[in-house]
Amino acid sequence: MKVFSDQEQQGQHNPSGFLVNGVMQPNPEKPERLERLLAGVAAGGHAVHAPTDHGLAPIAAVHTPAYLKFLSTVYERWARIPDATPEIFPNIHPDRRTASYPLSAVGQAGFHVTDMSCPIGAHTWEAARWSANCAVSATQAVLDRDNVAYALCRPPGHHCFSDLAGGFCYLNNSAIAAQYLRQTHDRVAIIDVDLHHGNGTQGIFYERNDVFTLSIHADPARFYPFFWGHAHEVGEGAGHGYNLNIPLLRGTGDDGFMKGLNEGLNVVRNFAPGAIVIALGLDAFEGDPFGGLAVSTPGFAKMARMLAALNLPTVIVQEGGYLCNELGTNLQSFLDGFEGRSA
Ligand SMILES: [Zn+2]
Repeated sequence: MKVFSDQEQQGQHNPSGFLVNGVMQPNPEKPERLERLLAGVAAGGHAVHAPTDHGLAPIAAVHTPAYLKFLSTVYERWARIPDATPEIFPNIHPDRRTASYPLSAVGQAGFHVTDMSCPIGAHTWEAARWSANCAVSATQAVLDRDNVAYALCRPPGHHCFSDLAGGFCYLNNSAIAAQYLRQTHDRVAIIDVDLHHGNGTQGIFYERNDVFTLSIHADPARFYPFFWGHAHEVGEGAGHGYNLNIPLLRGTGDDGFMKGLNEGLNVVRNFAPGAIVIALGLDAFEGDPFGGLAVSTPGFAKMARMLAALNLPTVIVQEGGYLCNELGTNLQSFLDGFEGRSA
């Protein structure tokens, strides 16, 4: 399977912290994740390709001009503020439905960053841009002739809305891939198997019926992202019936996960997409530091076989999955499973 990754650009984004229960902790979305995931790719014998720079057009197809201007310029503006921190953290959030758009870097950070897990540093924009380039390059490979390709995206993307960063995510790589597939395919489905609900992806396509969004995740009633990911969120307007959330009880293991996924895939089959994007979080793993679900290493291969059985052109986009000894092995298990090999 073709793999797209740019370790140099993507590795420079190194967020210092995130706020957990009121305490600033080391940020788990570390550059070392790339190394561990690349080790899994190498162990599976997959060829790594450098992504092509596709410019801003595929990114601007799902993100607003104001947000992209903010993300690409705010660091320099913030750095001119006397005594400002080396990274941008928001300290005010508006009621976004009625708020005016501010001119200051501080005000814009509050407008465009939803939580305290997304510090913006000197290299964040370039890393996010190259992460998106990996997604677009993998999508281009699938559109050209590959049946499947894997984008090793870091930073991840599925918590990012059209104009709102959140949950370690700055550009929504899965959404960018799905929108890019729309050039050729009338209907595209995004299948999000990350531990956390893909709230940004849901938000981007919530009123559309050409991109079906399925997310299977730990129940947000007591888990991030809290405000999204509930079963009653089914889409609005033209998008009504084109968003499906399958929340699982905390601690659900392979059997419960596959049962939920099977239900979701039956709905995806009825939608009859021409191609799919898999938002591949590996943090549903039983040993992941977030500890939300309990999927096993062979469980990822099983999950992949179920997804491969859809028999559709597929772009696999890396989302979450945090440092643990099995991180690379879990990726290898998934990729091998997708190709019908056993790890
Ligand atoms: Zn996650």
